[in-house]
Amino acid sequence: MGAIEAIREVDKVGAITLVSEEECPYYSRPMISELVSGKANFDKMKCREDTFWKSHNVNALTGYKAISVNMSQKLVKLDKGDPVNFDKLLIATGGKPFVPIIEGANRKDVLTFTTLSDAKLLDSKLKTAKSAVVIGAGLIGVSVTEALVDRGLKVTMVELKDFILNLILDEHSSEMIQNVITEAGVTIVTGQTVKKIIGKPENSQLVGGVILTNGDQINCDLVIVAIGVIPRKDLVANTSVKTNRGILVDKTMSTNISDVYASGDVAEAYDFLIKENRLLPLWPLAHLEGKIAGYNMAGKKALYEGGTAMSSLKYFDMPIISFGITNPKEKDQYEILVECDQEKKIYKKILLTNNVIVGLTFVNDIKKTGIFFHLLKNAVNVKKFKSSLLSENFGLANLPPSLRKKIYERQ
Ligand SMILES: Cc1cc2nc3c(=O)[nH]c(=O)nc-3n(C[C@H](O)[C@H](O)[C@H](O)COP(=O)(O)OP(=O)(O)OC[C@H]3O[C@@H](n4cnc5c(N)ncnc54)[C@H](O)[C@@H]3O)c2cc1C
Repeated sequence: MGAIEAIREVDKVGAITLVSEEECPYYSRPMISELVSGKANFDKMKCREDTFWKSHNVNALTGYKAISVNMSQKLVKLDKGDPVNFDKLLIATGGKPFVPIIEGANRKDVLTFTTLSDAKLLDSKLKTAKSAVVIGAGLIGVSVTEALVDRGLKVTMVELKDFILNLILDEHSSEMIQNVITEAGVTIVTGQTVKKIIGKPENSQLVGGVILTNGDQINCDLVIVAIGVIPRKDLVANTSVKTNRGILVDKTMSTNISDVYASGDVAEAYDFLIKENRLLPLWPLAHLEGKIAGYNMAGKKALYEGGTAMSSLKYFDMPIISFGITNPKEKDQYEILVECDQEKKIYKKILLTNNVIVGLTFVNDIKKTGIFFHLLKNAVNVKKFKSSLLSENFGLANLPPSLRKKIYERQ
């Protein structure tokens, strides 16, 4: 969608064909948990008007799957109908849930949770299901857990690592959210995974429970596998498009094959903090990368300035912002500023190297994090005002006037 909008900014008439396996209009994928919890309906999840395809003059082949690309003939073969030819191609196929081989996982009440149809299927199961095991306590695992709790299910989250949300939080902030989730009635098991899914005694086709690696059994009616998303790069598998974990792109979002671009969760794009390309499966970055690809496809030169890891959460009503490096292995390589107010349940941590902010985690008091992100993104040396960074009154006024001006100009 970012690409289509960018192309139409530059070129009002060139033919655009969109191929999308999902039949529905453009919707907010992060909101599928709210659909299940009942906090949102599909209309609220729509990100654009229903007339979008028409108003942007797009030939939208929704409900079609691209099955192969012939790079030399510039043709995309579909699962049905005629192939589509192209002058420029954008591959924005996103990610797919990673489902490991688990004995007994072929039962139909073992689900994943990444699409609208996954959410609708889960919703249909909630008429009868009373309990669930969620495998994986990352962003998707915690978001589906919250939805299930809202729908009155008894939920157990099983996480292989020692603490939940471990890719974006440190132990302390993780423990804070873990306490809130446990208070909401969820059982959290860490350091374990599911080695087997078993059936119900009365009907072995139905999910009856899981057996953990330590041998414990947890009874449940549903299992949701939420252990991660991997780039959906199958379309370029037999082509000369270069890939690593995702499709490799330059700052114009072009692959190594001319006229072929990639963006979003399927692409490894630039991370300005670590100064390398890597997978960063985040909604705003996917949109921005698509936009940059679109401009370049339409002939307007645009460069992607890069993104970095960033999360803004409000699971179980606990606001958390984290970005950059949040829980490094080599802690002694960083200067770490921490403020922890047990009573107010506030936790603030900033990581610096050479007086430059490289990471942040704020829990329950997330004001001003926008300023910190600006400081990180622009690698601002904060030495002169470092002592005030975690003070309650820290704000734009603490910054040198030249920097303040820059921030105002960007707003
Ligand atoms: C439950 C959940 C919660 C999330 N929460 C957040 C959040 O809070 N914040 C955040 O920043 N990010 C979040 N994300 C991640 C975010 O949704 C993704 O980063 C973003 O959707 C990626 O956009 P994309 O366009 O690259 O891929 P996608 O949104 O995955 O879109 C790819 C589309 O391509 C289609 N497709 C794939 N292969 C083919 C093919 N061969 N032929 C035709 N069509 C095909 C797919 O069906 C899909 O419709 C969440 C994701 C999930 C699943």
